[in-house]
Amino acid sequence: MTQEQSGKQKQNGKQKQNAVCSVSDKCGGCKWIRKSYAEQLAEKSKRFSKLMEPFCRPEPILGMDQPAHYRHKVHAVFGEDRRHNVISGIYEEKSHRIVPVDSCYIEEEQADAIIVTVRELLPSFKIRPYNEDTGYGLLRHVLIRKGYATGQIMVVLVLTSPILPSKNNFVKALLAKHPEITTVVINVNDRGTSMVLGEKEQVIYGKGYIEDVLCGKVFRISPKSFYQVNPAQTEKLYRKALEYAALSGKETVLDAYCGTGTIGIIAAGQAGQVIGVELNKDAVWDAKRNAKQNRVENITFYQNDAGRFLVQMAERGVQLDVLLMDPPRSGNSEAFLQAVAAIKPGKIVYVSCNPETLVRDLKQLGKAGWQVKRAVGVDMFPFTDATEAVCLLERRLGLHK
Ligand code: SAH
Repeated sequence: MTQEQSGKQKQNGKQKQNAVCSVSDKCGGCKWIRKSYAEQLAEKSKRFSKLMEPFCRPEPILGMDQPAHYRHKVHAVFGEDRRHNVISGIYEEKSHRIVPVDSCYIEEEQADAIIVTVRELLPSFKIRPYNEDTGYGLLRHVLIRKGYATGQIMVVLVLTSPILPSKNNFVKALLAKHPEITTVVINVNDRGTSMVLGEKEQVIYGKGYIEDVLCGKVFRISPKSFYQVNPAQTEKLYRKALEYAALSGKETVLDAYCGTGTIGIIAAGQAGQVIGVELNKDAVWDAKRNAKQNRVENITFYQNDAGRFLVQMAERGVQLDVLLMDPPRSGNSEAFLQAVAAIKPGKIVYVSCNPETLVRDLKQLGKAGWQVKRAVGVDMFPFTDATEAVCLLERRLGLHK
């Protein structure tokens, strides 16, 4: 920060966050850094209320007490500048140019510090970063995940080849500076793709996964499994989803798009039985382990496309009382929604990370007989314009099975 900037910062409290990052305009990861947090919440509430106008009036948005440095999953891309110095940071918005970043206002601070250390270690180990144009170089990305309650830290080194020179010494040097790291994994991505992680993995230190605690349950998280990036808010999100589900202990519940089984495992204590379905096989593996570790016996996980799975459930005439669903940004497929209409769960709790597809799906479910009873925005992504939401839908009275 320049002296001039810090002067401005003191003069005008609203500029405070903007002064925190000099590359926010190029990066685009925190578009709302110029707004105070109160302004952000007010704007998100307004937008969400407008979107929900045809359905119901939302409850007050659930914001964070301390919104800075909330991201517990941090990703840095590695490359070289024109003088062949190693740089790490983020891709400039809509491009493949790397904007160097050492610390970020929304990323977890220890994670950022570890990325800087990895970068500083590379020359002495003669490890070159990957060059997208020439195809030469070894290190493409570093991904850090940190457990919120446990503090466990996973470092994933994404390489173009499985061989990291002097890997034991590299790990030793990394741990000497960051003894808080609990596991280090090599992930091999040798494809010309924009995906960060490749298929192959090799654990070079620790267990290969981290654990975190949410709503009193322990969850293990592998490099490729989905896990919410803002664990402090995730508890609020899940508690709301469970409040809306209002389970009595007898229901059959489907946790669709269950990831590592988080929502379903937390719900299982209040349900008769829970079924989880998820496409990502690593996440399903984690989900099964998570159920076992938490001694939850009334839950079963399936690896499948949620739409295909639901169609099969409908064909088999399976009874479902409550559908909990947390789809990706694209929302639910047509097949999924048609199968829901055929199975007719009495209650649907819809967790959404994309209000546009949420509204599209709510309209369709409305036509099929469900009414939105309650809705709430949860601020999972401060300093961005993204809003997460939870909605409760119930079957309209008079529409019996
Ligand atoms: N409920 C979980 C995960 C939500 S994210 C949690 O809160 O942690 C959405 C999940 O949907 C991801 O785990 C993703 O792998 C999965 N997914 C994406 N498309 C899918 C599909 N067609 N069928 C089933 N799962 C899918």
